Amino acid sequence: MGLDTGTHADNTLTNRVAIVTGASRGIGRAVACALAREGVHVAVNYHENAAAAHEVCKQIEAIGTRAVAIRADVGDAAQVSTLVDQATDALGEVAILVNNAGISRHAPLDQITVQDWDDLLRTNLTSAFLMTQAVLPAMRRAGWGRIINMSSIAAQTGGVIGPHYAASKAGMLGLTHSYAKLLSHEGITVNAVAPALIESDMIAHNPAIRPGMIPIGRFGTADEVADMTVATIRNGYVTGQTINLNGGWYMS
Ligand code: NDP
Repeated sequence: MGLDTGTHADNTLTNRVAIVTGASRGIGRAVACALAREGVHVAVNYHENAAAAHEVCKQIEAIGTRAVAIRADVGDAAQVSTLVDQATDALGEVAILVNNAGISRHAPLDQITVQDWDDLLRTNLTSAFLMTQAVLPAMRRAGWGRIINMSSIAAQTGGVIGPHYAASKAGMLGLTHSYAKLLSHEGITVNAVAPALIESDMIAHNPAIRPGMIPIGRFGTADEVADMTVATIRNGYVTGQTINLNGGWYMS
């Protein structure tokens, strides 16, 4: 007699629907395209760069799945609600959520303002809570869901930007652990991805950041983050984890 393994794993991604927040550029764009290569239809959320988001949609359609570009500030509850409604109307019920949108604002320690704190917490952390709450009803109805929170090495080491950024990214780990625990019996996995120094617009404007900081001697690529993100989404036995991609800068 074999072991009772309970509900069989369903790790199929083909024809599922994803929302990737902040998918017009950088890591989010790479994740959106990598999901499309797995047969996933993707809502490409952006904040300001409509042309870039539409270009990502064209790339996804060329890969062979459906895509829609949707403008929304993911730190705003009403806009999040509209984003999820529009994605559902265009592509179907959302099964995969990648909370990737984020901002960094480097400033000397004594010049970080309450406004900086509020802006980073709202855009980087409140957004993930709002998005997750908005997609959960559909995932729970389906008994299947995958949520990824794009955290950072800053959550683990403090990072190079400042306490406001580090706190927003550390908050994502608490969010990940709580949702993972509460949803583990419902076929919904929740994981964090914690990259460090990935080539993108975000690090391009920070002169304090150099490849020599990384033990392996180079920055990571958005495609490397996307590859690991999709592998985590595919694997239904991984939940509540932080997946580190940092060139050996922080070891766990
Ligand atoms: P980029 O600056 O290249 O891209 C940021 C993306 O977020 C853009 O698509 C932008 O949209 C979107 N965005 C910003 N604010 C909002 C908002 N309020 N609502 C919706 N979308 C928004 O960043 P990266 O690709 O480098 O970073 C992606 C994520 O990875 C971030 O959460 C970042 O903190 C995290 N990260 C990055 C690291 C790195 O080294 N690059 C390291 C560790 C973590 P638009 O184009 O319209 O402005």
